[in-house]
Amino acid sequence: MLVALTKQHEVFMLTPRITEAALKQLRKTTVFYCPQCQEPLQLKIGAIKIPHFAHQKNSSCDTNFSEGESYEHILGKQQLYTQLSQLGLEVKLEAYLPQLRQRPDLLVSKNNKNYALEFQCSPISPEMLQMRNDGYRSKQILPIWLVKTPKLKLNSSGIAKISLNEQHKQFFETVKEQTYLISYDSESKKFYYLGHLLYVQGNIYIANIKTLSLEKQQFPFYVPKPIPIHEFSQMLSFYHRHCKQFFNTKLFYSRQGVHDLFLRALYELRLSREEIPYFIGIPIKGRESISLFSAEWQLALFYFLQENDLSMKNVNDSAIHYYLKWVKIEETVKTFDAVKRYIGLMQKLNIQSIHCSYNKTELIHLLYGEYIAILRKN
Ligand SMILES: [Zn+2]
Repeated sequence: MLVALTKQHEVFMLTPRITEAALKQLRKTTVFYCPQCQEPLQLKIGAIKIPHFAHQKNSSCDTNFSEGESYEHILGKQQLYTQLSQLGLEVKLEAYLPQLRQRPDLLVSKNNKNYALEFQCSPISPEMLQMRNDGYRSKQILPIWLVKTPKLKLNSSGIAKISLNEQHKQFFETVKEQTYLISYDSESKKFYYLGHLLYVQGNIYIANIKTLSLEKQQFPFYVPKPIPIHEFSQMLSFYHRHCKQFFNTKLFYSRQGVHDLFLRALYELRLSREEIPYFIGIPIKGRESISLFSAEWQLALFYFLQENDLSMKNVNDSAIHYYLKWVKIEETVKTFDAVKRYIGLMQKLNIQSIHCSYNKTELIHLLYGEYIAILRKN
């Protein structure tokens, strides 16, 4: 905690401007109280963590659960508070909302609207997240969640392979219409916008990453523009490089041989690795629901059609049910929908078989339409 009450019930806030010596002096002369439970607090001044307040051990205060706060969290909160205050906004740090029994990191007011800003550095359960959001909304407070920045290797293009943990994914799924996730890094004092995520495998995504320094941020936070098609095309190339790696790994290391679905499909379709067309292994919206790699189930679909004497243009829903069973993908609304989307794309491109010629530019445009262009209309 960075905020406490004095004996006179005045709000006392720890800021980087107060020197360590001054704090040590204060600790001797002043008693601080928790704004929520009124218990006396300890002022902790250490070499590693930044100064903060903590309850006595065994306290039953509600805020106690948050006291394992990391250095990163406390520092980030302080930085965000300072910056937003400088923008001339009304900002409250750790304001306790008694009716909700919630204490957002920052409570910001602008143009008669209230926002709860949470810099979430520690895990939060989906139920707790939902509960907090519902609580805020019931009081006409808009929740804004910032997450901790995942480890990144950024190149100049801003396109990177990133690994999102369950926490990140959860936030991403909470904000349905949003195509990006905002993360903050208190060490570099930068916001990282993780946008237009293309799902690869497991926790791996290809993302378009834009950074913004703290002092350039506005409030409410800057919303990134949809990327232009050439940038999207770069993302796809990046994605395809990962597909190629997948093909290579499969071919060199698979011990299952023809029992491996991908290798079997290649063999049956009379394809060599070099001949695998661009339309195999393309990112499909909602395809996170399928645990097989995109190239795997997409190639298997062509194999399935060949085996069953079906053509792409005639694939109907019952064929999709049958295919899912055949390829051992559990059928859910999401998995069914992902396969159907893929088939829809193939039909639009008039691709009937694996050896069919196709227009790559058109394919990129169609994918761009799926992922990005919808946003441009809004
Ligand atoms: Zn307390």
